[in-house]
Amino acid sequence: MAPLRERIAGSARGRTVRTRMLTTMLAFMAVGLAVTGVLTYAAQFRALDQRVDRELWQEYSELALIAEDTDDEGRPVHSSVDSVLVHATGAAAPSDHESVLTFIDGQRRYQPSQQDYALMPDGSADSARIQQQILDAHVPGRTVIVSMEAHGRDLRVLIASVDVAGDEAQGIFVVANDIGSQRAELWRSAVTFAGLSVITLVVAGWVGYVVTGRLLRPLEDLRAATEQITVVDLEHRVPVPEGRDDVAALARNFNRMLARIHAGFAEQRRFMSDVGHELRTPLTIVRGTLETTDVEDPDDVRESREIAYEELDRMGRVVGDLSELAASKRPDYVRLRPVDLQHFGRSAFARIAHIAEREWILEREVDVVADADEQRLTQAVVQLAANAVRYSEDGSRIFFGVDLVSGPDGPEIHVSVRDEGVGIAPDDQRRIFERFTRVDAGRGGGTGLGLPIVLAIAEGHGGEVRVLSRPGRGSTFTIVFPQFTSAGHTGGRRAPEHRDGSSPAADDRISSQGRDEG
Ligand code: ADP
Repeated sequence: MAPLRERIAGSARGRTVRTRMLTTMLAFMAVGLAVTGVLTYAAQFRALDQRVDRELWQEYSELALIAEDTDDEGRPVHSSVDSVLVHATGAAAPSDHESVLTFIDGQRRYQPSQQDYALMPDGSADSARIQQQILDAHVPGRTVIVSMEAHGRDLRVLIASVDVAGDEAQGIFVVANDIGSQRAELWRSAVTFAGLSVITLVVAGWVGYVVTGRLLRPLEDLRAATEQITVVDLEHRVPVPEGRDDVAALARNFNRMLARIHAGFAEQRRFMSDVGHELRTPLTIVRGTLETTDVEDPDDVRESREIAYEELDRMGRVVGDLSELAASKRPDYVRLRPVDLQHFGRSAFARIAHIAEREWILEREVDVVADADEQRLTQAVVQLAANAVRYSEDGSRIFFGVDLVSGPDGPEIHVSVRDEGVGIAPDDQRRIFERFTRVDAGRGGGTGLGLPIVLAIAEGHGGEVRVLSRPGRGSTFTIVFPQFTSAGHTGGRRAPEHRDGSSPAADDRISSQGRDEG
């Protein structure tokens, strides 16, 4: 089987947009021209038949006028059939395609001296047959139109019976119209139309081929360029054609998509390398410890065992946090619904207050409803509180608060955890949100993934995490996100609550807008 790329390229060449557009356009044009031609010429053939019969009846009405002609006293001018036919023949002015002939008592008589052709030319062997045909078709006392063939012509023939009162003779006035030659003319015109239609189709096809080729060239270039791009070579970009048309937009979007995929792949590679690096350390420690353990010495073995357990626990935590961090990239990681923040604040506080022996203070709570994911938010608060514990001393104070603040884009919710711990140097304050960043590694136990998860939760709420910190004085981490929901009633309320019952000094409180500690 051909390689995938060849197969794709082959199929694109087989039925390109260009051929599809051209065949569709030409098919429509061909059908249109054919229908137009057939309908037009059918109507023209019908009109020809009607016109020929009309002309024949016109000749007949001129004959009738002559036959009924009267003098000043009202007497008929013509008293014999012969007289009527002589005058009718003399007055007849046969048009092109017409021929006039008269009979009296079955004998051929007069015909105009000048006409396109003679119905019964002298000396023609066919004349007797034609005469017989006319006499057979003649109905005494009536006028009929019949079709007949004479001397290779298709004719419409009017045969009028001519009687004059007081004359026994039976006259016949014949007008023939060569409808065949007129039909042949129409056919020639139809064939010309068909020929011109074919030429039109060929020209349109050629022009269409050239024009679509020119219009679609950028698309073709784009296709060729996309074939160059592989998972290995994501740095390649397709050329963006000039102009502001769809193809240019497609090329730009394609490049943007490539950039995102490229960034995604790069991030994935970084992630893998970080993870590898992170897991290698405990493995090295365990291995090193085991290698240097004196198996004969029970104390040494016990100590090695403890180190191995510790490191395995650490690895377990890293793996757990990693899968949490991976999950946080999913769009449904945070599901917002209206949350009663007073209830949330109290239950979150109840939970963190048991993490470790500290003076826990619920310094602010608000009675509002906001769009949030209560479970994720609690998880973030627990993480911040665990950090506050880890980076502060036994017995120091940790403040927790939920506040409603009017921000530049509307009301914001601020959920903050403040400690009086070691603090973070200004240069490190941004870095700590990066994966596996630990500033103070001495305080062990951390995976360096806690803050990235907190940040993902804040971002899932359409918000961010703000840090205010001063080395040696403590840090405040605040999750800030928009309130959105209008279902809640506003009216923040401060409710200092002390686990140990004491009241916080006014200075201990910080504005939820934040200020540098100390
Ligand atoms: P860790 O598991 O190491 O705590 P985090 O992502 O939660 O990982 O935090 C990253 C780093 O940020 C920590 O190693 C620490 O240096 C710093 N940090 C986090 N919280 C605090 C805090 N409350 N006080 C001082 N430093 C902190």
